[in-house]
Amino acid sequence: MARPVTLIPGDGIGPEVTQAARTVADATGVALAWEVVEAGEAAIKSSGTPLPEAALESVRRNRLALKGPITTPIGGGFRSVNVALRQQLDLYASVRPARAIAGEGTRFPLVDLIVVREATEGLYAGVEHWVDRDHTAAETVNVITRKASDRIVRFAFELAKKQRRRRVTGVHKANIMKTTGALFQTAFQAIAKEYPTIPSDERLIDNMCMQLAKKPEEYDVLVTTNLFGDILSDLCAGLAGGLGIAPGGLYGDGLAVFEPVHGSAPKYAGQDKANPVAEILSLEMLLRHIGETEAADRVWRAVWETVAEKKVVTYDLALPGYTDRPVPPSSCSAMAKEIARKVPLVDLAAPLPRAGSAGRPGGAALDPALET
Ligand code: NAD
Repeated sequence: MARPVTLIPGDGIGPEVTQAARTVADATGVALAWEVVEAGEAAIKSSGTPLPEAALESVRRNRLALKGPITTPIGGGFRSVNVALRQQLDLYASVRPARAIAGEGTRFPLVDLIVVREATEGLYAGVEHWVDRDHTAAETVNVITRKASDRIVRFAFELAKKQRRRRVTGVHKANIMKTTGALFQTAFQAIAKEYPTIPSDERLIDNMCMQLAKKPEEYDVLVTTNLFGDILSDLCAGLAGGLGIAPGGLYGDGLAVFEPVHGSAPKYAGQDKANPVAEILSLEMLLRHIGETEAADRVWRAVWETVAEKKVVTYDLALPGYTDRPVPPSSCSAMAKEIARKVPLVDLAAPLPRAGSAGRPGGAALDPALET
């Protein structure tokens, strides 16, 4: 029986990159029954609301979703659908792996980080108001609870245990934010004691950013509050090679939604130009979540080999800034088809090829340091 999965194509480049992920999902042979629901701009047109109850109902029923990005107008207009979705479904843990792919597009070819971000409260809880009638002053309330802090820190340590990660770092600003920061810090220290075999430490958010910019390879799992996590995950995505390759997963109790870190990139909408890798790697996370480990491994390796070969890659992976070997860019759908073609063919036991090695004198050289 095919496993039902809610599919939210979303806005902008969302429909293109989710279609790309479906192409790759088909190639894995895993039986998934996609239940397509609207949210975002399309839903406003058809049902007057960006987050129809039918979309929420579908995710609640299937307990599993793959989502494209959804546009949030800056300032006025409707509230962020993404924030609303997380709160309505209590998707409290946002997990964003930042892994360099084939050493491409990064000064840190070995970077392999996971940002675990609390996704329901903090400065994104939506508790904010204008202080005066003239809108010259405003306040946003930073809501931090011990319950949510314990829950996210425990989630990070459980993830580290399951994935055999080497270290968990708690990130906060407890020296200045004496109540909210200290509350998160206290939770981190208490839960860390429950996992004595997993090394753990703490960093202040500002120092963390500096450390990541200098030596990201030294860090592993980072756990933090909502706003810091949002910023850190984009920073880590950049360190690993850019938004186009950064996937994400949102986890609640018995329920998970997978989506790329990037937004709807409206300027590329409908052009079949956007990089599909972030959405395809979100599918990889979904496959791991449902226990389809071999299919997930095949997707990861097919992406790696396609990026390393650099024959069929989108514009962002073909630019001179990303590679020392610029190539003509391919379309989003062409890159997805190339990844899908490789999925059944990849040899899971072979060492992963190094960036740009294919087609060079000496053939596909292998770099043991880049093996995973
Ligand atoms: P963005 O991620 O859409 O774009 C940032 C830059 O990265 C742009 O130059 C864009 O063209 C490029 N880019 C993004 N994804 C790409 C891809 N797959 N391939 C190639 N290039 C890519 O961020 P933004 O411009 O700040 O946001 C646009 C809209 O998306 C906003 O309305 C924002 O609120 C929304 N957004 C949604 C989500 C989500 O649904 N989870 C996340 C972030 C932003």
